[in-house]
Amino acid sequence: MISIPKGTKDVTPYESYKWHYVEDTARRVAATFGYSEIRTPTFEHTELFLRGVGETTDIVNKEMYTFLDKGNRSMTLKCEGTAGVARSFIENGIGALPQPTKMYYITPVFRYERPQSGRLREHHQFGVELYGSTSPFADAEVILLAKRLIETLGITELELNLNSIGCGTCRKGYNAALKDYFRARAEELCPVCRERLDKNPLRILDCKEERCAAIAKDAPVVTDYLCDDCRTHFEALQTILKNEGVSFAVNPKIVRGLDYYTGTVFEFISTSIGAKGTVCGGGRYNRLVEEVGGKPTPAVGFGMGLERLIMVLEALGLSLGSPETPAVYVAPLSEALRGQAFSLVGKLRLAGVSADTDLADRSFKAQMKYANKKGYRYLIALGEDELRSGTVQLKEMASGTERAVAIVDLPKTLGEL
Ligand code: ATP
Ligand code: MG
Repeated sequence: MISIPKGTKDVTPYESYKWHYVEDTARRVAATFGYSEIRTPTFEHTELFLRGVGETTDIVNKEMYTFLDKGNRSMTLKCEGTAGVARSFIENGIGALPQPTKMYYITPVFRYERPQSGRLREHHQFGVELYGSTSPFADAEVILLAKRLIETLGITELELNLNSIGCGTCRKGYNAALKDYFRARAEELCPVCRERLDKNPLRILDCKEERCAAIAKDAPVVTDYLCDDCRTHFEALQTILKNEGVSFAVNPKIVRGLDYYTGTVFEFISTSIGAKGTVCGGGRYNRLVEEVGGKPTPAVGFGMGLERLIMVLEALGLSLGSPETPAVYVAPLSEALRGQAFSLVGKLRLAGVSADTDLADRSFKAQMKYANKKGYRYLIALGEDELRSGTVQLKEMASGTERAVAIVDLPKTLGEL
């Protein structure tokens, strides 16, 4: 047997309803905030991620699924959702339309990581992107959207961590301070971080190696180095969130795993699924669009891991919707009536009522057992008598109650139930 690739997962027909529930909720919440869906390709030119995500990040250094296509072009499977959106925004001239542009996506994301609980090689993200506004109200809006989705799903235990990692101006002073700090302890850092020391010392703060994390614990904090503009923006955002009743903690250790962030960064963290508890990460990336070849365009957004979100819902015993079993099962009483049952089901379906009949040559008794197990809401036993009188007994499975309904009225009656 050929098995599933390491770090990937099937969604079987018995659990896809959970995904529909989460995705439908996400789409609905996004719509109430005025966001429209954007879909971009599953693979892009590798160059886009090198420039967009950043060459000193773990994603680009270690995690990309990169391949040469038959025309010898280097392609990479989507390793996050934002770079493709930025490319599409530029390529489709979306920036020329009235701004801001508010978009959301649901996409597979591919990263070559060491698979473990909550860490896959293909996972899925719901994300939003708000382009064309520098206002702290825009930062607040995307944070509120993430929070609304989380709460609509019934989760109350996620903690919001907030930070600002400053712009190009503040980053200069902060990078210098980080270099001084880490250089003094360079031999203790992992080899990758030793390299990061010169190119992008901020990345050391995001290293997953224990020895680096231990050293990073006492590193200078970025909030001490913010320029006036960044400080004002960060304070305004905090005021808005407080006014909206959002509780959060300022956590200067959050820097996020992608190079494109400027200013605001945030994470929603769960305490119910162990160490891999970051369900949602986001922030502001005012330089990204320019970085991938567009006009300077401020942007803010987040990515939310759907597998981790579902893990949290399951860990907390929260609802994930219910299996999508058709409403009604039509059971022919005899072999000769199979065709009649099949036609009746066809008519119900045409009227928009979900319906099934036997496709497995089961006896009537076996069909009853099957219908019970599958959890149809209604059952119709179709025999000669019913066909002659033009009336069937519509049985509600849960209560066992029956009522007589004319066959011609079935689509209407069932449609209204
Ligand atoms: P982590 O620090 O856990 O590696 P990250 O910073 O790489 O996360 P982002 O790039 O911000 O994560 O992705 C957004 C969200 O996608 C994460 O908060 C997480 O919920 C989810 N996610 C990221 N990588 C994976 C993965 N390998 N498997 C499952 N979910 C993931
Ligand atoms: Mg990661």
